[in-house]
Amino acid sequence: MTSKDINWYIQGVRDNNRKILAKTITLIESSLPDHREMGRHIVDRLLPHTGKGIRLGVTGVPGAGKSTFIESLGIYLIGKGHRVAVLAVDPSSSRSGGSILADKTRMEKLSASPIAFIRPSPSGGTLGGVADKTRETMLLCEAAGFDVVIIETVGVGQSETAVSSMVDFFLVLLIAGAGDELQGIKKGVLELADAIAINKADGNNIKAAEMARSEYESALHILRPISPSWSPPVMTCSSIETSGIENIWNTVLLHREKMGCTGEFDERRKRQAVEWMWSMVNSSLREWFTANPLVREILPGITRDVERGSLEPTVAASKLLFFLKDKT
Ligand code: GDP
Repeated sequence: MTSKDINWYIQGVRDNNRKILAKTITLIESSLPDHREMGRHIVDRLLPHTGKGIRLGVTGVPGAGKSTFIESLGIYLIGKGHRVAVLAVDPSSSRSGGSILADKTRMEKLSASPIAFIRPSPSGGTLGGVADKTRETMLLCEAAGFDVVIIETVGVGQSETAVSSMVDFFLVLLIAGAGDELQGIKKGVLELADAIAINKADGNNIKAAEMARSEYESALHILRPISPSWSPPVMTCSSIETSGIENIWNTVLLHREKMGCTGEFDERRKRQAVEWMWSMVNSSLREWFTANPLVREILPGITRDVERGSLEPTVAASKLLFFLKDKT
């Protein structure tokens, strides 16, 4: 690839050409090292045009109403003149090839809007790899002029931590359910929340949603807040009736303003940059390690021995690492 090709991509992204943006993301998601390298190069060159948008993470168990919520919020934001990109981190798409997030026909109205951009989760690879690709995609979207990037993830795995470490505001979407309200969601996820929204507060469900709201409010009191100047609020909304959506967005803006004043916004972004660096080091090391001819030669035998139980995983790991250290 020549530098002219790279410039073509860069210009296309800067011009908010959604086709070229999508092609650039495909480079980042490619399994071909040359394409990925080129994708990273493009992201590097576009970095000066990133960082000004609002990055919002949304998590919730399947059925909580994430896509309905994001569609309502997205349409509301477009009405206010924002350009909205929606990305997904879906751990199921890398584990089983199936996907909780991408398979449904989702966000039909928002996808039809010429100023919104929706990209399903990259498939394949480890969660770390998927998260890195999503982060790069987020930067590309910002460079393309999308000033709100929403990253959606399913609240069933480790992906919440990955997403919360790339956004400015992490929203946990819950629904009022039968039994103990706190059973469905792990405490760790609540600790990451900058706000909680109880969705489906409509019709016969309003009372239950209100009760869930006060239960979560008490639950949050017990947790140590992430920030000294922000206590995560618990709100209710109905994504179908679009009530409470504006209130949630105003909360995101208020948070941004407060964090900006205290310097915590910059701190959070800085911390995330360092975390990203380590995440890239980890995934590059693993890639480099497994591509090494020596490792490739002994890995199948060692893997078999571990499977059979004739070699302890810990011993196998040291063997692989020391073997490599010895020979390089
Ligand atoms: P996701 O799996 O979290 O993305 O959830 P979906 O957005 O696909 O929603 C799951 C189901 O809940 C769908 O049948 C939606 O129509 C419904 N739903 C989503 N939001 C609301 C809401 O605010 N009120 C009501 N009553 N139903 C909703």
